[in-house]
Amino acid sequence: MSVNRTSVSSGKWAAIAAACLASVAIAIGNSSDTINGDELLFRAERVTGDRFLYATKTPRGTLVRARTEPPAEILRAIDDGLSTLFDIAHRHGYRRRLRHSDYTVFIARADRTADREGRYSPDIAIPAAQYAGSIYDQGGVVYAAGMVLSFDPCAFVIAEHERDWKRVADVVRYEGEHLVLFHNDPSLFRQTADHSRGGGHPILQ
Ligand SMILES: [Zn+2]
Repeated sequence: MSVNRTSVSSGKWAAIAAACLASVAIAIGNSSDTINGDELLFRAERVTGDRFLYATKTPRGTLVRARTEPPAEILRAIDDGLSTLFDIAHRHGYRRRLRHSDYTVFIARADRTADREGRYSPDIAIPAAQYAGSIYDQGGVVYAAGMVLSFDPCAFVIAEHERDWKRVADVVRYEGEHLVLFHNDPSLFRQTADHSRGGGHPILQ
């Protein structure tokens, strides 16, 4: 399913979809480059302005880097989001990068905790760039629920949450969609990577 610009502003999941930035990794580096762990950490710190001094793994083996020790609920939500994504990906016949240990998730400080409608919505502020003037542009910055940082290794960033773990699982699933598509369905990846041209999440049903 995809959404158009008229419908993207309504509905809870559409609000998340509107705030996903898949194409930042393309803007900040060659997406086909393989980078090492130090380069990935540097990229995450440059994009978010945070220092990720804490590292841990989820119960299912995803590497998590955060400013401080994250709550157990967010680690389980990361597992849940990726598990849902991998189940759907298998149904589509995809086989690559479908292990939890293939993924690194950064948890950054939230730059806002409520959206314009006042709903709980911890998001990260990113300079607007290609989203300038679109519905995603809110005064020079775009608020992103999540953002792909690297395609190889598979890595993205989400914001710190204190509740609404279902939202965390959804954001993880949606950011992960871009990475699964990059490695399994390049054509569909290219069609869906830039939300400033329309389209949202979930991409895969
Ligand atoms: Zn997206």
